Amino acid sequence: MHDAIVLGLGAMGASASYQLARRGADVLGIDRFSPPHIHGSSHGATRITRLAVGEGEQYVPLAKRSHEIWREIEAATGTGLFVQNGGLIISSAASKATTHVADFFGKTVNAARAHAIAHEMLDAAAIRARFPQFRVHDQEMGYFEPSAGFVRPEGAIAAQISLAENHGAEIRPGESVVDVAVSSDGVKVTTDRGNYRAHRLVVAAGAWLPRLLDRRFAKLLKVYRQTLFWFSPEDAALYSPERFPIFIWDPVGRTQPIYGFPAIDGTGVKIATEQYESVCDPESVAVAATSAETAAMHRDFVAPQFHGLGACVDTATCLYSVTPDSHFIIDTPPGMERILVISACSGHGFKHSPAIGEAAAAWAMDAPPPFDLSAFRLSRFG
Ligand SMILES: Cc1cc2nc3c(=O)[nH]c(=O)nc-3n(C[C@H](O)[C@H](O)[C@H](O)COP(=O)(O)OP(=O)(O)OC[C@H]3O[C@@H](n4cnc5c(N)ncnc54)[C@H](O)[C@@H]3O)c2cc1C
Repeated sequence: MHDAIVLGLGAMGASASYQLARRGADVLGIDRFSPPHIHGSSHGATRITRLAVGEGEQYVPLAKRSHEIWREIEAATGTGLFVQNGGLIISSAASKATTHVADFFGKTVNAARAHAIAHEMLDAAAIRARFPQFRVHDQEMGYFEPSAGFVRPEGAIAAQISLAENHGAEIRPGESVVDVAVSSDGVKVTTDRGNYRAHRLVVAAGAWLPRLLDRRFAKLLKVYRQTLFWFSPEDAALYSPERFPIFIWDPVGRTQPIYGFPAIDGTGVKIATEQYESVCDPESVAVAATSAETAAMHRDFVAPQFHGLGACVDTATCLYSVTPDSHFIIDTPPGMERILVISACSGHGFKHSPAIGEAAAAWAMDAPPPFDLSAFRLSRFG
């Protein structure tokens, strides 16, 4: 009987496994693929992190703690994972696009003020002077956060799985969980290779959660395929992390936001948008962007918005699992008190994954919760 089983070893499960193992728990981590992999929600070279979280102030303690844990993981593994190159959020009164929640820009500024997070407000002229890469409209304004930046998701997952194993965790990649049964003394997990028992189960199955456990998750979660594109900069230095921040932008005249990253590792500038129009099935989704999607991205969002970006040099696709209010689910379903379900995506979960892993470990080991997770309860959906 294990202390805990972690089902799914993406961003959330890798972190939960590491945090459990480092606290001395007997933990078994299971994943149907070999994480990090390209089938779920945690790949594509970079993820934005920012402390003034416009999605809601309930996330700020998670983001702050996660920044500390990234540095701990870097020190423990000698791996560079987290680059604080600064983050620029651009919006305007004319904006029609929504980034996860209404008034994302205003809520970001309010969170920064409420939590004393260093930032600068920039008008269009100041954005042009400091970041000439962006073609901003006169009415657009910027919020710049020096502590924001990006994390390398594949490296972060690999590092945490490796640390979990170093602390004694048993990791089983390439094994699919096919059934979960709860009894009074524990949880039985059946895979395509065998049966395992534990006192507690952390379910971090990402886009596959709707098919596991309970029909309520199929009703609550919609899975959307998102496309990512890398564009070649004419002047690589101009788009290096030293001169180009991560950004989130609701451009004037567009109904979708865009976000992006500096050019790293000799690749292009990664730019993406978000779509919530067509849902997909993770079992059959197309994992390559089409030439039509690439051409549309360049035409609609790259050529009009940036100076000096040329051809698309790479693409990828990735899955968002989205709740009705775009906030996370971190809770034990009614009647399943030995199971903690983590659906921390809705397009903005990665930056919080180390802290969520810490909270999951505390839950599994009956330790006091390190964060207030009440905003993420299932009961809010009725
Ligand atoms: C395109 C894109 C851009 C994003 N950008 C950002 C960003 O900039 N900043 C940010 O903070 N967040 C961002 N996010 C969100 C963030 O990446 C996700 O919140 C996070 O990766 C979710 O991790 P997860 O562990 O829940 O899911 P996953 O990483 O998908 O992990 C789920 C795991 O469960 C396994 N699994 C599923 N079913 C089974 C089964 N039956 N048996 C065994 N294993 C199973 C899967 O193989 C998988 O490895 C983005 C997401 C996407 C898709």
